[in-house]
Amino acid sequence: MSSINSLVGDFLELVMGASFPVAFTGAGISTESGIPDYRSPGTGRWERMDPSVVSLDGFYTDPARYYQYALEMYPIRSKAEPNHAHFLLAELEAKKLVQGVITQNVDGLHYKAGSKRVYELHGSLREAECLGCGATYSMDEIMERAKGGEIPPLCTECNGRLLKPKAVFFGEALPQNTWQEAMALVEKSDLLIVIGSSLQVSPANSLPNVIMRSGGKLIIINLMPTPYDEHAAILIREKVGEFASVALETLRTSMRI
Ligand code: ZN
Repeated sequence: MSSINSLVGDFLELVMGASFPVAFTGAGISTESGIPDYRSPGTGRWERMDPSVVSLDGFYTDPARYYQYALEMYPIRSKAEPNHAHFLLAELEAKKLVQGVITQNVDGLHYKAGSKRVYELHGSLREAECLGCGATYSMDEIMERAKGGEIPPLCTECNGRLLKPKAVFFGEALPQNTWQEAMALVEKSDLLIVIGSSLQVSPANSLPNVIMRSGGKLIIINLMPTPYDEHAAILIREKVGEFASVALETLRTSMRI
């Protein structure tokens, strides 16, 4: 048995034996879907991007600059498809083996893969909101207008106020309701499955502490080391999509009777 198969065996055994498993995902689950992780080094031109473009201050100061960047990113984002790791979580949820997915990602790929209970800690790029009247628009519509030269696109419901994507920018607080719901979920959980997060961004990095305090277990699937590796019941340092592809196959075979 190759090492990935034995890791998959251990993984599924722990997941099936837990009473309330919850997943937590970061940028690393989506890099294999082609979404660049601009917080990580070595990601080419995104490494050279000025992070102030996606900061709250930067957005208010120069919204046109943000929308130019968004226009460049949009084709990549709209073409991105979920990979095996997103599908694995959706399938585990459908089989009642995962109770919810908490994510730091704004790409919407968990929903696209079929997950239902998704807690988007950093909001999402599916919609934009008017900073004046609160009217919401789909990002597809907004980006069509930007493509047509309307930069920045403005609200048509009120006096043409600025539209901000409903994703959390640098320097912006997390949506409190979502965070509290996510915390409540982890407090009930006895197994936290971390996929593609280096567990370094606050406050999401506090979730492993919550699970450990309550005596729950931790599975970490991440290519790079994390500060919680030594506490993991199972540590899987593989490409998440590759691991998930074997796990999906095994899960489907083992549950087919
Ligand atoms: Zn408005």
